[in-house]
Amino acid sequence: MGNWCDYKVTTDEKIYPLLLKPVIKDYLWGGTRLIDEYGFETDKNPAAEGWMLSCHKDGTNIVVNGEYKGKSLDEVLKNWYGDYSLPILIKLIDAKDRLSVQVHPDNEYALKNEGEPGKTEMWYIVDCEPGAELIYGFTKEVSKDEFAERINKNTLDAVMNYVPVKKGDVFFIKSGTLHAIGKGILIAEIQQNSNTTYRVSDYGRLGADGKPRELHVKKALDVTETRPSTIPYGNIGEIEKHSFGIKRHLAKCEYFDVTYYDLSGKVDLTSNDCFSSLLVIEGKIDIEYNNGTVSAGKGDSLFIPKGLKVTVSGTAKIILSEF
Ligand code: ZN
Repeated sequence: MGNWCDYKVTTDEKIYPLLLKPVIKDYLWGGTRLIDEYGFETDKNPAAEGWMLSCHKDGTNIVVNGEYKGKSLDEVLKNWYGDYSLPILIKLIDAKDRLSVQVHPDNEYALKNEGEPGKTEMWYIVDCEPGAELIYGFTKEVSKDEFAERINKNTLDAVMNYVPVKKGDVFFIKSGTLHAIGKGILIAEIQQNSNTTYRVSDYGRLGADGKPRELHVKKALDVTETRPSTIPYGNIGEIEKHSFGIKRHLAKCEYFDVTYYDLSGKVDLTSNDCFSSLLVIEGKIDIEYNNGTVSAGKGDSLFIPKGLKVTVSGTAKIILSEF
């Protein structure tokens, strides 16, 4: 996983698990579950996305515990690690309505055309309404011409892969994969640190300004893989039973390595090789480290420094992302 793992602490300051305040985005398709069920404090409504781990220019977390309380995550990491760039962004997404059909570029295309990395992402379905579905790639191979024509004539539906979803399903969305989150789905998304999206269809919806949101057809044609994906999805991931509960490995790529824990005990999550993020989906945990304990509950997100000795205990469902 990237050069990020090679960063060493450059000061003698004491490192500790950083509890982060989410950045809320009020996109029109969002709901209010992040406020009502996850306790996010915001004056935004709807609360479509909570950016749980982010140093992106479009939104950076504020630390809410310890010595650095009130400082931005960006500032603290600069202090600890000097020149750096956080490689991932983690979100909770409450799609009350469906999102646009979209695609993200790979690194090469995005760095050249957008000045930021591309986006490969992973979804964990935290919750969904009965009958909920999403779009994951194509059902059959289409040519670029056919793809362009179907965008124009609004007939993409006939070739897109609609997938019914249930709680706990996992999707790995490599850059270039056409996708859309459907309505009534709450997702944890682990992605590269990028905010570049090319929309190919927004179902004729109007934005906050009363106009249709911009589509990016030409760029989408450039970057979309128009053959069906061969990556497994749904109820995937090796499950291991341990004394501390159940561990399920969800996805690994060059940018992140994600594991789900259904915790009912105490587990050592020390990593000497990588930084980690802990996202609490349900329940309560205590994170013990050499200098104290941080408690966290449903909807909380923590940055765990590399090399910090940490054990996590409690009865909870958590997502550990290493990067
Ligand atoms: Zn996406």
